[in-house]
Amino acid sequence: MATQRKIAGVRGMNDLLPADAALVEWFEARVADWVRSYGYRQIRTPIVEYTELFVRGIGEVTDIVEKEMYSFEDRLNGERLTMRPEFTAGTVRAAVEHNLVYDGPKRVWSIGPVFRHERPQRGRYRQFDQVNVEALGFAGPDIDAEHIVMLARLWKTLGIGPVRLEINCLGQAEERARHRVDLIAHFERHADRLDDDARRRLHSNPLRILDTKNPALAEVVAAAPRITDYLGAASLAHFEGLQRLVGAAGIAYSVNPRLVRGLDYYNLTVFEWITDALGAQGTICGGGRYDPLIERVGGKPTPACGYAIGVARVLELLGAAADLEIGSGTDIYVVHQGGATAEPAFLLAESIRDRGLDVVCHAGDASLKSQMKRADASGAEYAVIVGESEVAAGAAAIKALRGSDATAAYAEQRIVPLAQVPDALVDAMTVTESE
Ligand code: ATP
Ligand code: MG
Repeated sequence: MATQRKIAGVRGMNDLLPADAALVEWFEARVADWVRSYGYRQIRTPIVEYTELFVRGIGEVTDIVEKEMYSFEDRLNGERLTMRPEFTAGTVRAAVEHNLVYDGPKRVWSIGPVFRHERPQRGRYRQFDQVNVEALGFAGPDIDAEHIVMLARLWKTLGIGPVRLEINCLGQAEERARHRVDLIAHFERHADRLDDDARRRLHSNPLRILDTKNPALAEVVAAAPRITDYLGAASLAHFEGLQRLVGAAGIAYSVNPRLVRGLDYYNLTVFEWITDALGAQGTICGGGRYDPLIERVGGKPTPACGYAIGVARVLELLGAAADLEIGSGTDIYVVHQGGATAEPAFLLAESIRDRGLDVVCHAGDASLKSQMKRADASGAEYAVIVGESEVAAGAAAIKALRGSDATAAYAEQRIVPLAQVPDALVDAMTVTESE
């Protein structure tokens, strides 16, 4: 048969390989502890939703809906579907569908992949994971502040830094409408300096021009009218309340009046956490308040806010922090000589696992010497050798693979009766761990 052409993975969609899994698992475990410590409970929604949910929930004139969504028609029934480009719309859809906030507000979180058709580059992929946190039914600003302090705690727990916090207040629809009139007038005066995207958005969504990534527009954007100058008393009180709590918690921040965020449905609070250590893709988390959204997808008016963390960008920062101690190895590696030794080795591995230790049992044929090499490479603390002579004597040999006083007893291999091997290993591991 002719050699088949290799099939590559889809551009911008990455594999997590076993060698990198320990870091990801470590991160996910920290995240699970951290959200629990603030009373958030997990919600898992499908990866695919009706396209209309995202169009209504994110907004028609946004990068995501205009050009980044993986949408398709289900050929079997003609339904128009989209792979989620973010979590909020699906979370809110589920909350409305299951009436989640009927008995009070809810704190929920999710982790998983989202999909956006962007130009792949460092920190920007077409499938990427987000940690998503939402507080549904809370009017704030205390909950907005909770989101900011919990993120500050996460960065500290993970040992990444410095990450700077930018915040802004987008006010309410009426305030943005007045701002919008002046914003359009400003950009019209400088129409010759706008790019195609900005010109197109000038009348559909001029606020989004402030979010441009085109450096050529920086000057016109910097001179634009600021939303914060259009805020009424209630919005200002919300913004000040947030700043008071965040300041009292000792968290540094700066107000960026041009921070508008990519999605259409935000009001009042928006924020981003940014690092300089990742080049152009430096925003590791963005979020804010979206009080109008739940009504927009068919629910009762319900205030809410939330944020999403870009996992790949955080992992890249973590990877740079070299002093992380992340165990990736097993505890025990069982080697054997095949034939009559395979079955006792197989069963011995099970009885060691019964005692709560992690065990890799050699599978297949290989010389004892090459198995010992694999045992060493596995990161195991001890090798258990089930050879022909040991089995004939109803025993196995234990050998320490890492040098230290605690393992000295097994530095030379020691013969232990089969039935006593699990206990002996548990004792040896306990001493090793308490060093
Ligand atoms: P950007 O301005 O970088 O395009 P965004 O405003 O589109 O970001 P959000 O929708 O706020 O991003 O998503 C939250 C976080 O997800 C971002 O802060 C970022 O860390 C991460 N993120 C966004 N897009 C990508 C991507 N294509 N690849 C990897 N991570 C991403
Ligand atoms: Mg984007």
